[in-house]
Amino acid sequence: MTIDGGKLDVPVVWHEDCLRHQPAGEVWLGLREDGTEVPERATVILSGLQGAGAPVVATLPHDPAALLAVHDPALIEHLRTIWADWEAGGYPADYGRDRVVPYVFPTRAMLAGLPLRAPAATHGRVGMFCYDTMTLVGPGSWEAIRAAADCARTAAGLIASGQQAAYALCRPPGHHAGRSGYGGSCYLNNAAIAVQVLRTAGVSRVAVLDIDAHHGNGTQSIFYDRPDVFYGSVHVDPGAGWFPHYLGFADERGDGPGLGANQNIPLAPGSGDEAWLDAVARLCEQVRNTGAEAIVLSLGVDAAAADPESPLQVTAGGYRAAGELIGKLGPVAVIQEGGYDLASLGEYVLAALSGLQSGLTARTEVSATE
Ligand SMILES: [Zn+2]
Repeated sequence: MTIDGGKLDVPVVWHEDCLRHQPAGEVWLGLREDGTEVPERATVILSGLQGAGAPVVATLPHDPAALLAVHDPALIEHLRTIWADWEAGGYPADYGRDRVVPYVFPTRAMLAGLPLRAPAATHGRVGMFCYDTMTLVGPGSWEAIRAAADCARTAAGLIASGQQAAYALCRPPGHHAGRSGYGGSCYLNNAAIAVQVLRTAGVSRVAVLDIDAHHGNGTQSIFYDRPDVFYGSVHVDPGAGWFPHYLGFADERGDGPGLGANQNIPLAPGSGDEAWLDAVARLCEQVRNTGAEAIVLSLGVDAAAADPESPLQVTAGGYRAAGELIGKLGPVAVIQEGGYDLASLGEYVLAALSGLQSGLTARTEVSATE
């Protein structure tokens, strides 16, 4: 695929360790299935972007402080150590459990108001942090989780130092991970890490635009009471029966000082370019009104018509148009979220980034003539 006006200039931040996470399936409705969050997702995207001439940039050295800025230390420690504990407990060798998966969850209904205690058993502990059965941990998972966070931090750093766009090829994705818990194939919230890097660098207002097909419940919850970070998302309606089921409704508008800084636009299953782009344009208008100085774009391309994980019907042209709208808003750190159709994944990400590039160019030309 070629792009208008030559090659793609957006730097692609990448770390090989993102390939080390091999969830080897997911447990969905009680059965282990193949799963779609596979390492090939990243290689397909990388080769698509390199083919368009995009420069590839290495990550900065790992900085634990960037993770701790938005996550509970206990979650990070769990993700760092759980595979070793699982192995030491004999779960793979003695019981044939080759991946970490929870089976009991300390929900509100279970605890009935009593305090949460840390369970003694490793297999009892996983449900304290992991809220579904689809988000497995294996031997290289932590290295990939950490590398994805480093990609996000590096891309945000490029924006903070004056770049107009940078793309973090994060795998695993992150927008379903909250401050203290993980699920939805996400472990740490790469977009939230990027936001906090920008804030710490002195960007006073940041907006997150989440155009993944699913609601980014983790990002929403991390910033729900903060007025300095706007979160806007267009996604398939959880009220029509879609993940994450419990969050992502239009009446979730933020809390306390953050009231009004959260906007969800749920769409009916089957929605295509017209409804989706109309929602993206409405979110862009809101971002403009917040006075955000930088954007973090949670770029999931699973709204693609051919994607196996969502019923939305957005075309590559739709993603290109969305990129163009968003590029006109200001500097953008792009964070890769979902997108699972290996045949079209590279084309869709390239379409979004080339749209972004032309939006940014249009914006720079306008401001140069003002
Ligand atoms: Zn998604």
